[in-house]
Amino acid sequence: MKRNENHAPSPMKEMARVKLAGFGVALLISGLVLLVYQAISLRSALTADATVQADMVADNVSASVLFDDVRTAQETLHSLRNVPYIESAGIYTKNGKRFAAYERPGLSRHARFEASPANVERANGRFLFDDVFVASSITQNGKTLGSVVVVATTTQMAAELLHFAVFILAASLCALWIAFVITSRMSARIAQAEKKLEYLASTDPLTGLPNRRAFYDALTERLQRGAQGCARAALILVDLDDFKNVNDTLGHGAGDELLKHVAVALKQSVRVADLVSRIGGDEFAVLVAIAKEKAEGIRTAERIARALARPFDLPRASIVASASVGVSVYPDDAADVAALVSSADIALYAAKSTGKNAAVEFHSNMTVEARRRARLETELRKAIDEDALSLAYQPQFSCRTGRIIGVEALARWVHPIDGEISPIEFVPVAEDSELIVALGQWVLRRACRDAARWNAQPGVALHVAVNVSARQLRQTEYSEDVIAILADSGLSPHLLELELTESQLMANMTAGVEAMRQLRAAGVRLSLDDFGTGYSSLSYLQSFPVNNLKIDRAFVKPLPQAGQPIVTAIISMAHSFGIGVVAEGVEDAAQLAWLTDAGCDIVQGYLMGRPMPFERITDLLRNESEYEDSEPLI
Ligand code: C2E
Ligand code: CA
Ligand code: CA
Repeated sequence: MKRNENHAPSPMKEMARVKLAGFGVALLISGLVLLVYQAISLRSALTADATVQADMVADNVSASVLFDDVRTAQETLHSLRNVPYIESAGIYTKNGKRFAAYERPGLSRHARFEASPANVERANGRFLFDDVFVASSITQNGKTLGSVVVVATTTQMAAELLHFAVFILAASLCALWIAFVITSRMSARIAQAEKKLEYLASTDPLTGLPNRRAFYDALTERLQRGAQGCARAALILVDLDDFKNVNDTLGHGAGDELLKHVAVALKQSVRVADLVSRIGGDEFAVLVAIAKEKAEGIRTAERIARALARPFDLPRASIVASASVGVSVYPDDAADVAALVSSADIALYAAKSTGKNAAVEFHSNMTVEARRRARLETELRKAIDEDALSLAYQPQFSCRTGRIIGVEALARWVHPIDGEISPIEFVPVAEDSELIVALGQWVLRRACRDAARWNAQPGVALHVAVNVSARQLRQTEYSEDVIAILADSGLSPHLLELELTESQLMANMTAGVEAMRQLRAAGVRLSLDDFGTGYSSLSYLQSFPVNNLKIDRAFVKPLPQAGQPIVTAIISMAHSFGIGVVAEGVEDAAQLAWLTDAGCDIVQGYLMGRPMPFERITDLLRNESEYEDSEPLI
C-alpha cells in the first residue's frame, strides 16, 4: 500500500525548519544589538581618550597662554600628530579668540565644523560616526585662561566596528550551520521514527500486511476516488474455517505459521495492485479493482477459495486451511463503505453456512436471512442456558429380530415466538460459533441420562445414538468430556453410539481419527452418518474405526425400484470391513423388505417410528417386554 502519496513534508520537519529560521533571525537581532552596543562603547572610549589628550594639552599650554607664547603653544599642539585619531585641535582664549591651531597633515576632507568651543556642543552626539568634539579648560591657579578643543575622527572606530561585525557574522553563520546540522540530523531521526510509528500503526506485525485500520482507510479512499479509475471494486472477505482448531491442537506457533502462509497465498492469488490485508485473527480482506463485469468479483473470490483449499506445509504438520469467502461489489451491491463491508460480511456468513470452503456472492435477499441467523444464534444461546431445548428419540430396529435396539437422539427447539425450529436450521448456526460445543454437551448429557433410565429397567439393552459435529470432535478434551458424562450418567459406554459425518471427518482427519480411537478404546461405539453424501469413498472406511455406517436417506428413497446396485455395494463393502449397516429414512414397507433381504442390519425411519419424546420410547420398551413372545415390532 502506498502511504504519504503526496510527499508532503512531515509536520515535524516543517517545525524544525521554522525553528531554524527563528534561530537565524534571533542571531541577526542579537548581532545588531551587539554592534550598536560596541559602537557606543567605542565612541565613548574615543571621547574619553580625546578628553585625556585635551586635558594634557590644556595643562601643558596654560603657561604659554598666560604669557602669550603662541609658538610654544603651537609646538605643544603639534605633539598631537602622534595620536592618530586626532584630526584637529585649537586653543582659544577666554574671550573666544583662536590662540593656536593644529590640523593633521594630509587631512583631505574638511571637517564640517571647526575645532572651536562654539562647535563642541553643536557637533557632538548627532550621529554615532560623526567626529567627536571635546573641550578642556586651561586654568592657572584656579583662573580660567581659555580652552582647548580636540576633534577626534571615528574612522578607526568604524574600521574596528567593521572587524567586529565581520566576526559576529562569521560566528553567527557558524552557529547557524551547527544548528542546521543538528536539526537536520534530528529531523531525519524524527522522520525515521514517524515512519516506523506509521508502519506499526498500519501494519499487522505477523504477516506484514496492512491491518484493519489501514485497510478501511484505503477502502474509503479508493471508493472516493471512484474505485481507482475502474468502474467497480470488489470487497472480498476471507475467514479461515476452523482456525481455532489449529491453534488448539497444534499450538499458537503453528497457527501463526499458517496465517503467514495464508497471507502469502492470498497475495499470490491477486494482482499486485489489489490490496490484501489482515483485518482480524483469522480474517483477511482483499480489495480488487474490477475492470469490466461484476462477475470478476466472484471469480476472484473463487480463485482465492481454491488457493487456500490446499495443504500448507507447517514445520510439524501439513494443514488444509480451507476458507469461507464472501464478496460484494461496489457500486452494484452497495453505494458506500459501510454498506459494502456489511454486504460482504453477509455473503461471508452465507458462505460459512453453506458448509464452508466456499465463495459466495452477495445477493440482496441475503440480508433478511443473515439477520435471522444472527437472531437465532443469540436466542439459541439463551435456550441452551435456560435448558429450553428438548430431545426427540427415533427408534432403530434390528432387521434380523425386528426388535428395537436403539434410538437416535435428535435435538428439538420450540421457540417462544417462532414455534418449532428445525435442527437443520439451528445446528448449522451453532456450528458456526462455539455454541455447538455447549449444545453438543447438553444433548449428550441429556441423552445419556435418559438412556441410563431406560437401561435401568430389567432386560433392556438399548443404545442411544448422539449426533456429533466436527467442531466438537476437535475440542482437545472431547473424549475426556464424553467419558466423564458417561460416568456421571451411569450409562455403560458400549450403549452410547456417536454419529459423525464423513465429510466432517475428512475435513480434518488426523485430529478426528485420534479422538475416535480414544473413544473406541473407552468402549464407545461410533457410526458414520449420512454415508454416501460426503466424499463417498468406500476405501476410506478402512481409516475410520467405526462400528456402523448409516446409508443416507437419499440412497434409500429410490428403493426398491432404483439404486439397488449402489446400496448392495455399500452393504457388502461395509460387511467385508466388519462394519454394520443402518439404513435411515425408511418410509415404506417395500423399502424395508428389500433392505432386510439385502442384508442391512438396522433400519430407522418414519415407517417404524418418527422421532418421539422420552415417555413414548419408555412405553415402547414396556410394550415390547410385555409381549416378549409375541410378534416383533417390524
Ligand atoms: P440426521 O442425523 O441425518 O438425522 C436424521 C434426520 O432424518 C432427522 O431429522 C429425522 O427426523 C429425519 N428422518 C428420520 N426418518 C425419516 C424418514 O423416514 N423420512 C424423512 N424424510 N426424514 C426422516 P431432524 O431431526 O430434523 O434432524 C436433522 C439433522 O439435524 C440431523 O440429521 C442431524 O444432522 C442434525 N441434528 C439433529 N440433532 C442434532 C444434535 O443433537 N447434534 C447435532 N450435531 N446435529 C443434530
Ligand atoms: Ca444422525
Ligand atoms: Ca443421517
